[in-house]
Amino acid sequence: MQLKDKVAYITGSASGIGKEIAIVFAKEGAKIIIADLNKDAAVATAEELKATGAQAIGVGVDVTNEEQVNASVEEGAAAFGGIDILISNAGIQIVHPVEEFTFADWKKMLAIHLDGAFLTTKACLKHMYAQGRGGSVIYMGSVHSKEASLLKAPYVTAKHGLIGLCKTVAKEGAKHGVRANVICPGFVRTPLVEKQIPEQAKTLGITEQQVIKDVMLKETVDGEFTTTDDVAQVALMFAGFPTNALTGQSLVVSHGWFMQ
Ligand code: NAD
Repeated sequence: MQLKDKVAYITGSASGIGKEIAIVFAKEGAKIIIADLNKDAAVATAEELKATGAQAIGVGVDVTNEEQVNASVEEGAAAFGGIDILISNAGIQIVHPVEEFTFADWKKMLAIHLDGAFLTTKACLKHMYAQGRGGSVIYMGSVHSKEASLLKAPYVTAKHGLIGLCKTVAKEGAKHGVRANVICPGFVRTPLVEKQIPEQAKTLGITEQQVIKDVMLKETVDGEFTTTDDVAQVALMFAGFPTNALTGQSLVVSHGWFMQ
């Protein structure tokens, strides 16, 4: 058990990648705080984990709301005796060409991806520093932390920004044994991506199959989607790594779509 008795606060973990990380971390002995905008789904996900013998609670949180973030982190820390791992994962996608993007949608995207990362980091670091047992902060970036794609200006901007936040937290956290890293997945077939397929087909004037083959997976080495488990295994490596040797890094897991 690589994460025995570690406490993990995972945002956006009632669905997709975050939920898979919760499942994998629970199997490795972690106590899980499922933190999601969809409170009912968060509670239901925590119940699913508990049915497997894991310790978990589900909390409702909008990661753009400072009070809600602080309250949910406090609730989780009180339930399980602190916070050892933050997975800042909650996210959405909105696609338009820049000239059609509304300012409101731009701000919404930056708020969820960047303000959410900042607020959850601030709230969790407080516990990690006070506990004196180190910690691991993991941001869900994307290949779009390194590369751009058509129609995704605020997403690409925010995902690049997470690397800056990560590097700063890595420097500031080092003396407390707190590491910070970014995972950069390629396309994973979660609800977030399923929604984009018809939207992109419409905007680009091509079929849904063409969106998958010629847009999403075009640059991969084998035409394959990355899986939620692929991403969860990278999260496990970052979370379980014992020293500051692995900090300030961003790791791409994308079937070779982006190579660095
Ligand atoms: P998903 O839609 O399956 O899950 C996202 C979860 O975030 C949902 O449960 C949703 O309720 C929650 N959420 C949304 N807004 C929130 C908010 N304001 N506060 C709290 N929770 C909120 O999506 P996913 O594909 O699992 O995406 C998770 C993360 O992975 C995102 O940051 C996304 O950008 C990133 N990512 C996804 C892919 C992919 O291809 N799916 C690739 C690279 C990166």
